[in-house]
Amino acid sequence: MIACPVCQAENDDFATTCKACKAFIQNRIPNLDLFHTLWKIIESPRSTFHQIVLAEHKNFSLFLFSLFGISLSFTAFWYFKLGNRFESLFDLIGWALWTGIGIGLAVAVLLTAIYHLIAKLLGGSTSVRSSFAVLAYSSTPIIASLVFVLPIELLTFGMFLFTSNPHPYTIKPISYVVLIGFDITMAVWSIVLAIVGTMVSHKVNFLKSVFVVLIAIGITGMALLTIASSLHILQ
Ligand SMILES: [Zn+2]
Repeated sequence: MIACPVCQAENDDFATTCKACKAFIQNRIPNLDLFHTLWKIIESPRSTFHQIVLAEHKNFSLFLFSLFGISLSFTAFWYFKLGNRFESLFDLIGWALWTGIGIGLAVAVLLTAIYHLIAKLLGGSTSVRSSFAVLAYSSTPIIASLVFVLPIELLTFGMFLFTSNPHPYTIKPISYVVLIGFDITMAVWSIVLAIVGTMVSHKVNFLKSVFVVLIAIGITGMALLTIASSLHILQ
């Protein structure tokens, strides 16, 4: 809650004018600046999620989900060792990029819907658009990993990153452990950001936020795997 500086009335965290005396409480935010917001979410996540909810236009949310999808696509190619299906690394990268955008859009819809529903059931109180933007901006560490670490992984292992024989670990064990460890750290960081974002935007406590985020990710992941296996993509 925010106390009005004029009449001391308690107002909603995201109110811009006082409900009692109409005094000005905090700045309206028309737009989000991409790089500023990505940086700030790392530096001070709580206040940045606050700004995201306040922003009238949740700019770049769909763009961030597309990049998140590309990261998921590369991860699936790596995890399920799908490299043998492609003629060259160049070919694989092309497929990961365009299927990734599709996966990103599917995840944007599915994850947001499931997340928002569970959050609302537990007393959450933000709009679907804010849920969507909170999840999109929470993927910042994963996107950083896609932009900065994946190129190093591709240069280090090439096609061997996506095949099982030989396993990339046997080629350069230390590089493999360090790079994959970094990716996992970034994924965990994104989950932590989503939990913080849930606490700020939906105004639910820590345990409920953990529950909402983990269950939403779990259900979305299972749904994607079910769709992929029914289309015989992973065999
Ligand atoms: Zn007031």
